[in-house]
Amino acid sequence: MPHKIEALQKLSRNLWWSWDTEAKELFYSLSPLLWERVNHNPVELLHHISNDEINARLDSKYGDKLARVSQRFEEYLNDKDTWVAKHAPSLAEKTVAYFSAEFGIHESIRIYSGGLGVLSGDHIKSASDLGLNFVGITLFYKEGYFRQCLNHEGWQTEEYPLQYPESMPLEKVTDAEGKDLIISFDIAQSEVFAQAWCLNVGRAKLFLLDTNIPANESHYRDICSRVYGGDQNMRINQEIVLGIGGVKLLKALDIDPAVYHMNEGHSAFLTVELLAAELEKGKQLEEAIERVKEQCVFTTHTPVAAGHDRFSSDMMHYSFDKYLHKIGLPFDDFLRMGAEDQSNIHGLFTMTVLALNLSRTANGVSKLHGEVSREMWKHIYAAKTANEVPIGHITNGVHMSSWSSGTTDRFWRQYTDSLDTLTSSPEAASEILARVTDEELWSLRYHLKRNLIDFIYRYLSNHLYHQHSYGAYLEHDTSKSRKNPLSPDVLTIGFARRFATYKRAPLIFSDIERLTRIVNNATMPVQIIFSGKAHPHDDAGKHYIQQIVEHTLQPQFKGKIIFLENYNIGVAKRMISGVDVWLNNPVRPLEASGTSGQKTVLHGGLNFSVPDGWWPEAFNGENGWSIGHGEVFDDHHEQDRHDAEQLYDVLENQIIPTFYNRNADNIPVNWLKKVRNAIITIGPEYNTHRMVRDYTTNYYLKD
Ligand SMILES: *Cc1c(COP(=O)(O)O)cnc(C)c1O
Repeated sequence: MPHKIEALQKLSRNLWWSWDTEAKELFYSLSPLLWERVNHNPVELLHHISNDEINARLDSKYGDKLARVSQRFEEYLNDKDTWVAKHAPSLAEKTVAYFSAEFGIHESIRIYSGGLGVLSGDHIKSASDLGLNFVGITLFYKEGYFRQCLNHEGWQTEEYPLQYPESMPLEKVTDAEGKDLIISFDIAQSEVFAQAWCLNVGRAKLFLLDTNIPANESHYRDICSRVYGGDQNMRINQEIVLGIGGVKLLKALDIDPAVYHMNEGHSAFLTVELLAAELEKGKQLEEAIERVKEQCVFTTHTPVAAGHDRFSSDMMHYSFDKYLHKIGLPFDDFLRMGAEDQSNIHGLFTMTVLALNLSRTANGVSKLHGEVSREMWKHIYAAKTANEVPIGHITNGVHMSSWSSGTTDRFWRQYTDSLDTLTSSPEAASEILARVTDEELWSLRYHLKRNLIDFIYRYLSNHLYHQHSYGAYLEHDTSKSRKNPLSPDVLTIGFARRFATYKRAPLIFSDIERLTRIVNNATMPVQIIFSGKAHPHDDAGKHYIQQIVEHTLQPQFKGKIIFLENYNIGVAKRMISGVDVWLNNPVRPLEASGTSGQKTVLHGGLNFSVPDGWWPEAFNGENGWSIGHGEVFDDHHEQDRHDAEQLYDVLENQIIPTFYNRNADNIPVNWLKKVRNAIITIGPEYNTHRMVRDYTTNYYLKD
């Protein structure tokens, strides 16, 4: 049945499969064991299974399913009746180009580090679903972001396993004659070359630039080795490849975008390459800048100062001298565009400032972050008050189908045709939920928590067996005397994110005795699952990981508080679907949006968060819990003490009693009321379909 193998291969080469439950099952069911071993990568899976073997598995039932999925895939690709066709027809024709240093699309494509990448990945998927003519631009990172390994002291170490294009659904980008398309640009005094790969994400295309080719001097070959790898020099080189290389690639492909969307300042050098094109046409600088601004929109992503790239003017001179001469842009004019302080243009060059100055519109990623950003950047606009600053906001969301487990997807499809319908409006969600009984909803929760616990035991035995301390724990745990295994009956809290210090991962350990009582309560126990990576240079974040790992090994927490190594999209999917409560306790207002909590909602999870990022606009008193009311203290010890006290108080007096308060059928009726409220109020609002529609109407379509 060669055509069937071809059909499978075709599905494996478009990431659409990753948000379609049935398509995923096609691959999984070929070999569940191998599927785990290849990190859910169907291209690699098919490499490892011979055609004979596949044929042996192609019974008629499988064949029917394959035919059905293939047909849906074709219909998806050819659908003309999209939201964009109806509401923004000009953008069905003309391309939106979206530049981002990272894209988190699936765990098998390791070109992301964290939230920013996941947001880009969810953005491109919704752009495809809605019918935008959309291309993403990023880099191909051969070593990806690191794999986290904890040593025997609980200290994070980093490994960089290679990923190979031939094991991924990447197509080499070629020119009209079928030869590798190579673009070139200047870095310092050198000409640097890049090839490009294309990844199909539904109807959208993601292009990945790659300098690892023989034409380059050796030190330019590994510019793109690692996501945010290396020093400042590596960083500026990556950003030149992304911004300037990206615009050159689009030109070589004859793509003339209606909009360039800079997702974060990393890609802001794209504006200079657009400026070069205007200067070449003979425009004066002022006019050229206006032309570039018309084409660009910019999204800023963090109120944390260190999160904004800044380069010294020496470094700028070294890297750009040759290029600026070529395009005829005086160095000082260039510096002025990226200077925070116009009276000191030879100070640091800030990528965010360049992006703000050269785009027609800018936005933060939640209502609160919009306010904070207007205050933060008002000097750039010489504005007296933040209200005058033209930075708006579009609150982040998540791509619901991607973050839904098979169990959850099948559950909702008993009641409606798709998750998109469930999240289309609060009314639609209410109407659907009215047909779901509490028993059914509660059994979904039980089922999902079971799956998470099964996953955790498998994961721990695969990942930590070589570690002395954890080894002892596992031995203990698998023995007959196993006393306190994780249980699906126990209230389960999840905390997983980057271990940036402002996120305060260890906050819940502020009062060990109190936490000991909470976790070990005889009738109302609690279990907590942690995961997360610290940036390789962030020793403070690594200390937080170490502290938590040490706590997990103390007798009173052993087997009840767990740290899962190597947080990534795959681990995130398991955690967000299984936990009852998603904990988030950053220092307000440093979390620009946060999205992980939004992923829990359709699984019946509830958010418990400091009112920061997306949460203050979503929280209504009935759809989760707030940690404090946004009180801010100058002294950070006092802040931590206050927030920890609020956390314990709400946990002990509201969350735990509500969870364990059961009716005669052992159902926590009041808890499920909150779950329903969360699905109705959060599901339809905090998803990337809504977010991309907002970008389209407010920003991509010109006024
Ligand atoms: C969703 C997600 C994030 C973002 O989480 P925040 O809430 O923004 O911290 C980071 N990493 C992974 C792997 C994710 O899936």
